[in-house]
Amino acid sequence: MKQLALPGDYRVIKGRVGKETSKPAVFIDIDGTLWPDSGPGTILKNPTIADEIISELRKISSFGYLLIGFTNQTHFGYQDKLNLFTILNYRNKVHRLTKKAILDAIYICHHHPDSSISYLKSECSKRKPNSGLVMWAKEELNLDLDKSVVIGDRITDIAAGQDSGIAKRFLIFNPRSLEWNISRSATSLQSLTFRISGSAIEALESIKSEISCHSIY
Ligand SMILES: [Zn+2]
Repeated sequence: MKQLALPGDYRVIKGRVGKETSKPAVFIDIDGTLWPDSGPGTILKNPTIADEIISELRKISSFGYLLIGFTNQTHFGYQDKLNLFTILNYRNKVHRLTKKAILDAIYICHHHPDSSISYLKSECSKRKPNSGLVMWAKEELNLDLDKSVVIGDRITDIAAGQDSGIAKRFLIFNPRSLEWNISRSATSLQSLTFRISGSAIEALESIKSEISCHSIY
């Protein structure tokens, strides 16, 4: 099904990303993975990304993998109203993040079923654990999900990756990793398979090692 961008879904793609040939990608959650999660709106606080993470991302990129951030960002939903300055300031930060983390693209869903902003109040198919953000990126960037990887600190990242057909899935374990605040049967939770890492750097090192062994680039 074609993934239509609703008002409230947003993405940035670097101009140099070629779409002619199918490429593998590493999908990376942002808050809690790329940097520590300090609650809704962490991205607005200009958090630091560890040098070791950037270094691992650079090596993975050199093997021909696209680096794609994918994230639910619900902070707008806690505000009474949005103005143009707030949105433009935020988008500026997303563009800066793309450069800072050497990402090829970032895909974002701002929807939440309880958002106080009417056009963001939605059970959006792109909101993780749904697979819409991954499928949106796949369509736009011509991705080979069979060879792709997902890394995140929530079981919702794993579900979005597995449901969209991403082959390798890494969960960074922390006290909130297995939280899931939507209904899903225990049976389907049990069907999720993934590997557990103690930190983002540990996961990225594993990904790099496996990619470097099997890379055709
Ligand atoms: Zn959405």
